[in-house]
Amino acid sequence: MSKPIGILGGTFDPVHIGHLRMALELLAALELSEVRFIPVHTHPFGKTPVATPEQRAEMLRLALADLPQCKVDTRELQRANVSYTVETLASLHAEVEETPLCLFLGLDAFRQLDGWHRWQELLDYCHLVVVDRPDMSPSTADLQTASTSPTIQTLLSQHAVDSPGALHEQRAGCVLFQSIPTLDISATQLRNSLKHEQTIRFLVPDAVLDYIHQHQLYTRNA
Ligand code: ATP
Repeated sequence: MSKPIGILGGTFDPVHIGHLRMALELLAALELSEVRFIPVHTHPFGKTPVATPEQRAEMLRLALADLPQCKVDTRELQRANVSYTVETLASLHAEVEETPLCLFLGLDAFRQLDGWHRWQELLDYCHLVVVDRPDMSPSTADLQTASTSPTIQTLLSQHAVDSPGALHEQRAGCVLFQSIPTLDISATQLRNSLKHEQTIRFLVPDAVLDYIHQHQLYTRNA
């Protein structure tokens, strides 16, 4: 079995150092071969990006240019319809042989997983790596509580694993909680700062900042 590939889906409107640090932390902690950044075309829950698909992909290319283990994967942009994660994972799974896929998910997204399109099939194609801040990192036991739906509790009782090693042993089907340091940054905050003409220097790579300025993205008049 080859080393697993990490999958980070998102709007990336724009990509920022919170995304990049998370990818590098998980690359190391889970001993992944690479992380694929997959920009969404049209969000299933109706979030409309400000920048175009091409601009978001280009900002990702600029951000990842010096990170050989981080790659942009534009398959959702090429489909040009609502981006369902299960379809993305099925197509990746068919492409890579003998290679586990690890989908990164925030805790909030994980708790709502049973609302996703064809969510029961996700674990046929990938492992789920649920990420949260160290100070509030959940254990599997914490999630067996009333705030988590019975469906998710059942999923956990069948699929939870305790260590990253399990992700290397089979191609799909495990749920791992991984605690990593995260940075308190969101693309929403960055867009708001730009709208108010505040600097976002050092919160995005310099090449991304240059691109944003050149294309006058996220300004008051954009
Ligand atoms: P927005 O503010 O526009 O909703 P965002 O900053 O949350 O955007 P997304 O493109 O939606 O960025 O995020 C892609 C993925 O990265 C999501 O799984 C999200 O939870 C995660 N993520 C976003 N910001 C951070 C951060 N600071 N640290 C770790 N993970 C993050």
